[in-house]
Amino acid sequence: TFIVLEGGEGAGKSTQVGQLSVWLREEGFEVVSTREPGSTKLGMRLRALLLDREHTGMSARAEALLYAADRAEHVSKVILPALRRGAIVISDRYIDSTLAYQGAGRDLVRAEVERVNEWATGELAPDLTVLLDIPPDEGLARLGGSTDRIEAESAEFHARVRKGFRDLADRDPARYLVLDAREPAEEITRAIQRRLRPILPD
Ligand code: C5P
Repeated sequence: TFIVLEGGEGAGKSTQVGQLSVWLREEGFEVVSTREPGSTKLGMRLRALLLDREHTGMSARAEALLYAADRAEHVSKVILPALRRGAIVISDRYIDSTLAYQGAGRDLVRAEVERVNEWATGELAPDLTVLLDIPPDEGLARLGGSTDRIEAESAEFHARVRKGFRDLADRDPARYLVLDAREPAEEITRAIQRRLRPILPD
């Protein structure tokens, strides 16, 4: 079972990944919690390149390809081996982050970015994607003064990203659970648990 958490800056994805991992381990599952970019040795190098302010203004296509390279390595070295031995994988971000940030945010053609990513991942798709939706100004305020390259982007960029995520959820409601990230964390965890229970292995 492959579960993905998506959302903008400060939506609380990593908190929920942590809560879900604890719960699923208590239920007796092997859980692999992971994130993008940067969960492999190669990915850590790519993450450093992608988030370094020195590379502000890299071309949108180069950025999309670096994220796709990180993802290809992530799938092949972490996600697929875990799924093959029956573990539940929970990832903080996956393909839809690229469709939202590099597709909607940077104005690349979504279908093209999608094709590259399907190739990069061998078409591995999540069983459930949880979108933690939050107005960008509130999410960024939660983070305080962090200095990642993307957090320095314009309000319009973050608004396009948010809409990009919401459009993806509208397009594929069977795979998506959309939650208001401003709700208390415990309620969000419970809502994800309710949705997850029926699709968990025996
Ligand atoms: O999720 P996390 O905060 O670790 O992501 C690091 C940064 O990379 C964030 O600022 C996020 O906006 C950015 N990002 C991106 N495109 C992606 C994934 C993440 O711009 N596909």
